[in-house]
Amino acid sequence: MDFAFDARTEELRARLLAFMDEHVYPAEPVAEEQRAALASPWDTPAVVEELKAEARRQGLWNLFLPDEEYGAGLTNLQYAPLAEITGRSPQLAPTALNCAAPDTGNMEVLAQFGSPAQRKQWLEPLLAGEIRSAFAMTEPEVASSDATNIETRIDKAADGSGDYVVNGRKWYISGAMNPECRIFIVMGKTDPDGPDVRRQQSMVLVPRDAPGVRVRRAMRVYGYEDHSHGGHAEVVFEDVRVPAADLVGEEGGGFAIAQARLGPGRIHHCMRLIGMAERAIELMCRRAVSRTAFGRPLAAQGQVGAWIADARVTVEQVRLLVLKTAWLMDTVGNRGAHTEIQAIKIATPRAVVDIIDRAVQLHGAGGVSQDFPLAELWASARTLMLADGPDEVHQRSLARRELKRYAEQG
Ligand SMILES: Cc1cc2nc3c(=O)[nH]c(=O)nc-3n(C[C@H](O)[C@H](O)[C@H](O)COP(=O)(O)OP(=O)(O)OC[C@H]3O[C@@H](n4cnc5c(N)ncnc54)[C@H](O)[C@@H]3O)c2cc1C
Repeated sequence: MDFAFDARTEELRARLLAFMDEHVYPAEPVAEEQRAALASPWDTPAVVEELKAEARRQGLWNLFLPDEEYGAGLTNLQYAPLAEITGRSPQLAPTALNCAAPDTGNMEVLAQFGSPAQRKQWLEPLLAGEIRSAFAMTEPEVASSDATNIETRIDKAADGSGDYVVNGRKWYISGAMNPECRIFIVMGKTDPDGPDVRRQQSMVLVPRDAPGVRVRRAMRVYGYEDHSHGGHAEVVFEDVRVPAADLVGEEGGGFAIAQARLGPGRIHHCMRLIGMAERAIELMCRRAVSRTAFGRPLAAQGQVGAWIADARVTVEQVRLLVLKTAWLMDTVGNRGAHTEIQAIKIATPRAVVDIIDRAVQLHGAGGVSQDFPLAELWASARTLMLADGPDEVHQRSLARRELKRYAEQG
């Protein structure tokens, strides 16, 4: 077993670390200042476009896409430590490298299932970082962790034109508040009464400016509007006309596409989460050695050393599991790595939330303030116990597979 990264990964890591130091961290306060001066907080600060241009110039672009035709052609194992580094500045770095969710998953869907015309119209500008996109599945009215519950309708138009008509309400649609988000991949039912509950759904491409699309409001995340991620919108689709050519894949294939989309998405989230934990540990250590209470540095007080040690142990544990999962995805495919993908999706957010929480505690009031990134990091990590499938859904399915072996033995 070899725990070293290969030469290409090490070379990209070194370049990315330098890019973070020279460009990304210094841009964090600049982006905040620029956003405050924008006409709308959903617009993109100029410094973000500058970062994108610089990352592209340096070849740190579309690193997430394993398909060499479109992206850097890295394996999951090569991309994992790079995504981790971007997680240290989750508001800026993934976008700067054109590696931000939900665009990454949407680009993968278009690359894998899109028609040549769809790829030309939407994938090319997404790969070039000229537009953003959103993925619209979750609905306020139904338990959406069970995708068979989705109620949005994608019906054939009554006029015989072959067009579809979309009606439904979605929420927590990440990125949709950003005016540069031009395209939604919408999941709905084309065959709500079909016998196979996993073949009732389809996906269609809906331009943000199509008549009948209403981006109603920004949902908050523990009070944050999450401007840098383009927010999480409530979107209403009312008699939205979609040409048949804008169906993604085949009718009835929506559920399978959603499954295919979520595998890589989940591991990317976990990689970035580990970077968030590393940032929290770094902040925790800096604070512990630089602040004094009751005559001694915080580092020498009570539980602080144990918090730091536990954080280091935990982050090493989840990193190993994430890297093993990346390796499995590369060697036996996403299906073969299903159990491990679920395991990391259960283990990583909760471990990282705990680490960030300790870092918040060590920072006192500063920890919950806007002057440190910790509060926002905590909120962001905490939502990943829900988003892309709540923990309990993964636990249920993982336990079922584990128990099956014993049930078969009788
Ligand atoms: C910040 C953020 C961003 C998001 N971005 C997007 C996006 O871009 N696009 C999109 O479509 N959606 C997005 N979501 C929605 C997210 O994917 C859903 O919230 C998630 O799938 C859960 O669906 P739900 O909210 O309807 O919860 P429900 O399905 O109502 O579940 C509620 C709770 O019930 C419990 N539960 C459910 N099923 C089981 C089970 N089988 N066993 C045990 N317990 C269970 C769990 O505790 C679960 O948390 C986002 C959510 C957040 C918070």
